[in-house]
Amino acid sequence: MNKKLICDFCGTEDSASNPIISGDNATICQSCAKEAYEIINNHKGETKLETAKTPEEDLSILAPKELKAILDEYVIGQDKAKKILSVAVYNHYKRIFKGKTTKDLTELSKSNVLLIGPTGSGKTLLAQTIANYLNVPFTIADATSLTEAGYVGDDVENIVTRLIQAANGDIKKAEQGIIFIDEIDKIARMSENRSITRDVSGEGVQQALLKIIEGSVVNVPPKGGRKHPGQEAHQLDTTNVLFICGGAFDGMKDIIGKRQGGNILGFNQEKKTKKEQDNIIEQIEPDDLVKYGLIPELIGRLHMIATLNEIDEDAMIHILTEPKNALIKQYSKLFDMDEVKLKFDKTSLKEIAVKAIERKTGARGLRSILEDIMLDVMYELPEYKNKTVTITRDVVNKTKKPKVA
Ligand code: ADP
Repeated sequence: MNKKLICDFCGTEDSASNPIISGDNATICQSCAKEAYEIINNHKGETKLETAKTPEEDLSILAPKELKAILDEYVIGQDKAKKILSVAVYNHYKRIFKGKTTKDLTELSKSNVLLIGPTGSGKTLLAQTIANYLNVPFTIADATSLTEAGYVGDDVENIVTRLIQAANGDIKKAEQGIIFIDEIDKIARMSENRSITRDVSGEGVQQALLKIIEGSVVNVPPKGGRKHPGQEAHQLDTTNVLFICGGAFDGMKDIIGKRQGGNILGFNQEKKTKKEQDNIIEQIEPDDLVKYGLIPELIGRLHMIATLNEIDEDAMIHILTEPKNALIKQYSKLFDMDEVKLKFDKTSLKEIAVKAIERKTGARGLRSILEDIMLDVMYELPEYKNKTVTITRDVVNKTKKPKVA
């Protein structure tokens, strides 16, 4: 008589709905086999996180010091902002990758970053450099464009769509990307401290942004653009997307000064040296941002606040010459290709720096100033083979032609 098979794991008898597989020394029913498969699969997921790391996971555990060292290669000065950003990015990716593997149920909240600094001081550059290095999808959104379109919901989705595009359509990858929101100060609601011509719609945009910054599932049309009925939407969860917001916050110094020095606006400020006035921004507190017109909920989501200094003459010269992709290095390389040596004497660099400061666009102005100076030389470059071209202060001021020897 055939003995009825029994599962060695759960003890159930063989049946049509739950058949048993029998090996040489053991038996297992279909439902136990399924369960075992799931346990092994989940376990694989965990070991993958600990051992076989994807490039992002590997980089995510770069220490803040190492991250800052990368930033140092491309961004001049702004030490404090670099430190804050490095720590924020480290915590962010630690939270994503290591948070999953710990049994501790303590929720680690997301540390989005707010960069406050004048235009052209390196806010975008910092965010971009970190994203490039971590090899995570990165996109820049201009907060002011959100007000113009009027369709707030759509616009916020567009930011997410661009992130997916930056990830070549890979939603999982996009969900670990970085979104830089520029000009966040321009969507401040009206405040009693500043005269502003914009309407109060800023608050609506802030609310819409708040949703994606704090983490929500956004429906995105598959190919971007407008949604069509019947078209299946992708869903992207922004919980693990790192948001870095940037803004110049003109007028913020007055708000901080007023808080610190009583009501006589201007009076105390005049007593301060230029350096002290510049540094006052470092003493910013969340309340000052509320006064400026950001909604408290949004400020609450931007845990880390870093301030950047205005680019002074010295910093301009460093920016021209030192970063890995410094403009002067790039021009020298172009000249090298034609076997021409390019020299900028000290007076020329100083003059370029002075001109850039006059433009009041921070270091952004350097490129166009240089392009203007170099146009004629570049035009004749192939004729200067094996020679040295020297740029002096007079060349920058266009009173003389470069020395070619
Ligand atoms: P913003 O602060 O307005 O976001 P960006 O980061 O876009 O300014 O800076 C504009 C350009 O100026 C950059 O692409 C870079 O070439 C240069 N730049 C600005 N600040 C720095 C800096 N601190 N170090 C090196 N380059 C800088």
